[in-house]
Amino acid sequence: MKLKIVKDNKPSLRKKSIPVDLPLSSEDIELLYSMNEYLKLSQDEEYAKKHNMRAGVGLAAPQVGVNKRMFVVYVNDDENVYNYILVNPTIIETSSKLCALRNGEGCLSVDKEYDGLVHRHYKIKIKAFNLLTNKEEIISACGFVAIVLQHEYDHLDGILFYDRIDKFNPLKEKGNEILL
Ligand SMILES: [Zn+2]
Repeated sequence: MKLKIVKDNKPSLRKKSIPVDLPLSSEDIELLYSMNEYLKLSQDEEYAKKHNMRAGVGLAAPQVGVNKRMFVVYVNDDENVYNYILVNPTIIETSSKLCALRNGEGCLSVDKEYDGLVHRHYKIKIKAFNLLTNKEEIISACGFVAIVLQHEYDHLDGILFYDRIDKFNPLKEKGNEILL
C-alpha cells in the first residue's frame, strides 16, 4: 500500500480521531503493516534517499489520512528495537518527572523546523491492543521511546509537537527535567 503523508496545513491532522473497532478489519491491518514498513524503510539510508523520504520513528494513522486511534513506533537504538503497532491506546500512568529532547522534536507531517523544548513525561504506561503480539498489553516506556509514544498519541487528538513549545521562550527549561 502506497502511503502519502498528510502535512500540517491539512485540517484533518487537527481532528480528534475515532476509536477503532476490534477485532481489526483486514483494511486496518493492511494499513498498519504498511505504516510499520514505511518507518523501517525510512530508516534505511539508501532507500530513503532514493525515495526522498525523511527518517521517522513514529507514524500515526491521521498522518496517512485515516482519522482512527492507532499508531506505529519503530525505534532502533542499536541495542534494542522498540516496535509497537498500537490500537486504541490509553495512557494509564505518567511520571511527574519530565524530559525533553535538547534539539527539539521533528515530525514527518511538519516540514518546517521548530526549535524549542517539548516537555513530556519521562516515564509512561500505555494500555493498547498491540497488533504485533495480537493482544491487549500494558507497555512501559521511558526516555526517548516514551517521548515518541507521547508524540504519536498526541496526533490522535490533533495535537502537534510545536503546540507544546513555549511561544515566548522556546528553550525555557523547567529546572528538573531530563534533557536527552
Ligand atoms: Zn508527528
